[in-house]
Amino acid sequence: MAEDVFKKLVAHCKEYGFVFQSSEIYDGLGAVYDYGQNGVELKNNIKKYWWDSMVMLNENIVGIDSAIFMHPTIWKASGHVDAFNDPLIDNKDSKKRYRADVLIEEQLAKIEEKINKEVEKAAKRFGDAFDEAQFRSTNARVLEHQEKWDALHNRFAKALNDGNLEELRQIIVDEEIVCPISGTRNWTEVRQFNLMFSTEMGSTSDGALKIYLRPETAQGIFVNYLNVQKTGRMKLPFGIAQIGKAFRNEIVARQFIFRMREFEQMEMQFFVKPGTELDWFEKWKTTRMSWHQSLGFGAENYRFHVHEKLAHYANAAVDVEYKFPFGFKEVEGIHSRTDFDLSQHQQYSGKKIQYFDTEKNESYVPFVVETSIGVDRMFLQVLSASYKEEEVSDASGQKDTRVVLSLPPQLAPVKMAVMPLVKKDGLPEKAREIIDDLKFDFNCMYDEKDSIGKRYRRMDAIGTPFCVTVDHQTLEDNTVTIRYRDTMEQDRVEISKLRAIIAEAVSMKSLFAKLK
Ligand code: ATP
Repeated sequence: MAEDVFKKLVAHCKEYGFVFQSSEIYDGLGAVYDYGQNGVELKNNIKKYWWDSMVMLNENIVGIDSAIFMHPTIWKASGHVDAFNDPLIDNKDSKKRYRADVLIEEQLAKIEEKINKEVEKAAKRFGDAFDEAQFRSTNARVLEHQEKWDALHNRFAKALNDGNLEELRQIIVDEEIVCPISGTRNWTEVRQFNLMFSTEMGSTSDGALKIYLRPETAQGIFVNYLNVQKTGRMKLPFGIAQIGKAFRNEIVARQFIFRMREFEQMEMQFFVKPGTELDWFEKWKTTRMSWHQSLGFGAENYRFHVHEKLAHYANAAVDVEYKFPFGFKEVEGIHSRTDFDLSQHQQYSGKKIQYFDTEKNESYVPFVVETSIGVDRMFLQVLSASYKEEEVSDASGQKDTRVVLSLPPQLAPVKMAVMPLVKKDGLPEKAREIIDDLKFDFNCMYDEKDSIGKRYRRMDAIGTPFCVTVDHQTLEDNTVTIRYRDTMEQDRVEISKLRAIIAEAVSMKSLFAKLK
């Protein structure tokens, strides 16, 4: 059912110019996508919401835009050349390749699902008297599943932490996990696969340099730490934010724009005094969760997921997960990265990368708390939350379904559509006059084709919060009907009031005001 909604959402993205498959006329390129005329606007609005919440609202956070190409030693220092790997396993019958860790995570999710079903059933049975905590801690079936989950989870976490590939395979065998395509358990060994793309800079005759396409934007921030700290005269704690493309040669590239080989990240590295990093980690967890929840998609659709395995650089890490139609999945990572990256760059570059603390009168390498979110995953979160099919009845009482994107108005690609009721009598000219007046403030669209009803539906489908109709009365008294996307109600208002009505709804101020 939920999967059906997801399929429809993917089709909708194409039909209404949000997302196209890359190189489609050549049959596409795996896990690479292009954003269309509406997609790019939505994406830009998401980026603006993030950027302003970081750089504009915080005196001590500044932005940069570093190059994608960087010196190859950076990736040696960061550990990516040696350790940016995924454990892979192939099914010998279907010849399909999977991430071993993902197969086991899905198995864990299945057990969790069983527990949740028991809880749901009991909740229905007991009604108001239901005590969920008590049920979870006493019901025999739940306890049995929970014990299984704990045992598998512990074994999995240990195998990951030990980098024990044989044990990962053994878990898959013992859990009797089958390939969803062939249905068999005929698995190969588990191998490590590096996710970085590489290319060459310069011609081979003068000794080309092997360089990598960055798999994260963070390293561009670390190697500019000194530049920004000195030129901006930044004092700890302070942050550097960046939005940019990242590239990973993902093996299991499914689920549309959830996992892409070329994607965009919004990352902020927050530099702090050693010893204060875990307090800042908690603070950024709260702030980032409130950034997501301000959009109004329902607090119950978010949760934190604590990592089974800490990356080589981290001393604490958590994911913000959103409930997509295909289940709870990561949209953002918050990591306490210690002084690992700056210390490594200090060592590999031979340059001193330290902060002089005037209070303590000593120099040290700052610690870092990072927030890292994928623009594309955020885009998918926004669309998943906003895509709705509604039963409505038209003016004559006839039933119909409308597809509406109930996007937060602040993120909607088009803020207002202006429609002349008919294509004559000076109505189109009047409609254009309204657009000419408002187009400096908002993204407006003119539409005169088809019936008003059809035009409304087209605007609902791309999430336009306001439709303004110009009719004969407009020419007499300068009033228009304004129709609200979500309620479909209409009001008659003066043209001179439109700017204020729209500004109030689409200004990001109301989102920022809710941030913690
Ligand atoms: P996953 O476990 O899903 O592979 P990750 O833990 O490797 O993700 P991070 O390295 O923490 O991800 O990257 C930070 C964010 O970048 C993720 O939360 C996600 O939003 C985004 N991201 C990472 N990889 C991809 C990808 N292949 N396609 C789209 N977004 C991605």
